[in-house]
Amino acid sequence: MKTLKKIISTIDHKGYKAYKQLKGRYDFGDFTLHIDHVQGDPFASPSRLRARVMQTKAVFAPELFSNSSRKTALEDYISRAFEKSLKKECRGNRGTGKSGLISIDSGGQEILQRTSCVVNFDFVEVRFYAGLPARGRTILGNYCLEMLAGEIPKIVAASMFCRSLDEKEMKKHIQICEDQDYLRGILEENNLVSFIKNGSILPRRSGISDSPLPESEAVAFKSPPRLETTLKAPHAGKITGMGIPRGITLIIGGGFHGKTTLLKAIERGIYNHIPSDGREYCITVDSAVKIRAEEGRNIQKVNISPFISNLPFGKDTVKFFTANASGSTSQAANIIEALECRAGFLLLDEDTSATNFLIRDEIMQKMVPKDKEPITPFIDRVKNLYRKFGTSSILVMGGSGDYFEIADTVIMMDCYLPSIVTEKAAELIKERKDTRYTEVSDSFSSITRRIPLPSSINPFRGGRKKVKSRGLDNIIFGSYNIDLSAVEQIVDPSQVNAISDIILYALRKKYMDGKNTLTDIIDMVFEDIGKYGLDIISDFKDQHPGSYALPRKFEVAAAINRLRTLKVLQAP
Ligand code: ADP
Ligand code: MG
Repeated sequence: MKTLKKIISTIDHKGYKAYKQLKGRYDFGDFTLHIDHVQGDPFASPSRLRARVMQTKAVFAPELFSNSSRKTALEDYISRAFEKSLKKECRGNRGTGKSGLISIDSGGQEILQRTSCVVNFDFVEVRFYAGLPARGRTILGNYCLEMLAGEIPKIVAASMFCRSLDEKEMKKHIQICEDQDYLRGILEENNLVSFIKNGSILPRRSGISDSPLPESEAVAFKSPPRLETTLKAPHAGKITGMGIPRGITLIIGGGFHGKTTLLKAIERGIYNHIPSDGREYCITVDSAVKIRAEEGRNIQKVNISPFISNLPFGKDTVKFFTANASGSTSQAANIIEALECRAGFLLLDEDTSATNFLIRDEIMQKMVPKDKEPITPFIDRVKNLYRKFGTSSILVMGGSGDYFEIADTVIMMDCYLPSIVTEKAAELIKERKDTRYTEVSDSFSSITRRIPLPSSINPFRGGRKKVKSRGLDNIIFGSYNIDLSAVEQIVDPSQVNAISDIILYALRKKYMDGKNTLTDIIDMVFEDIGKYGLDIISDFKDQHPGSYALPRKFEVAAAINRLRTLKVLQAP
């Protein structure tokens, strides 16, 4: 600490470049402060710092991080505690640009594996950012001292030692995370694809907020008696809620009665949520993929022939490519690409689907005969999919009763509460005089795997590597942008950051070699992450990797599939 103070006093009021001398490691007694990277000017991305406390001083009991669920939860908890105390201790902006700001990437409503904190048997380490203060480009030494020697030790003291944290709250955070992973793991043996605990709060505060609607305004979830299931979690014990069985499930009901909100909760049930989220016991199988229409997207040699054939002018749909997909072709490609990554549960909402992809009623079948209609609607494939691959589906469908014929379970939402109407739906279908015919007799063809060609994935622009993630839905990749706005199960900007570096990592490791399939490549990367941690995807060796949160394989594939320069071969 003395050394740090000395350097700061010698560089005070000098030009910003002199800050570079701060790079290094400083012993603060209870912890070491590492200044990994010093920003070039007060507007550049902030400097990267780490605080490390040895376990001899931090004293987190091994059982708090003894398996991957607990480790992720504890690291998440410490990151959030660090953020909470920095909000209290850090005085904030002092000078030009980002001067005086301290920040950490601590996540939203989900508990994700991330790189902002590492806990192991030896130490606890928090990785964070600081804007080293200056007026213009003149170093403000006093402010720098105040941040590094005043505020940071206080933040560390309040958040990185077991004794300074609220033990009850910390244990709850860990237990709830472990429960969620456990329940997700037993869904399949219970023949379920999703589970929603009674009492869950599904609606969110607003269209731009992911926090729960206040309990006074929300109708708490309650399972209909028929689907009520009780599961046993390691910490919460017996919990009762709605179990959605495998197969084909329909969510119907009037507009504004909570259909999309229910589907959204199911879609997000692939992630663990923090206590008080309202959805902490909404659990969905890992293999669930939201499927939507995505007009204008690029498609590279995807075999969409199970859904689309006989296009005008004989355009091939076995190796279908386009730089400008329609609603229905994009939705078909989204399904096939998800199946390529072994999706086990497809989620569709009429709000975000192409109507002609979902339904074609009996009158339209008479008007436009099959040989004039390239699209085989999803309704005629959904059973096929379940029989051949065991892939379940759930659809929100308030506008057509056609799916009654093939649904195993029909859930009706009425004033935000579900009931089961499967039998009534079947009766109504029987009473219908003029029924539609099923448009296919063949089974679903097997899924063609594809091999990305590394030469088509170019991170350079004008001789310089240019790859940068922006927010939740954009990656600048070389000369092109990858648009992820239709990839709805990305929930954290740090996942997008990780996805862009995973693509670079796969190139660097030569996993993309023109022989491996897309799924092989992604499997290899995730195997490395499992073995060496999420830090591994970073190309920086002498500074902390910054802000990554673990994405799923589906979303990594989705990003690669949306790269507009991508070229692939179909695997034999
Ligand atoms: P639908 O898809 O049936 O048209 P939505 O799911 O979009 O309906 O919900 C309509 C509105 O009702 C949204 O503003 C949503 O936040 C709200 N909402 C949904 N579920 C609940 C609930 N359980 N309690 C209170 N409000 C809810
Ligand atoms: Mg809706």
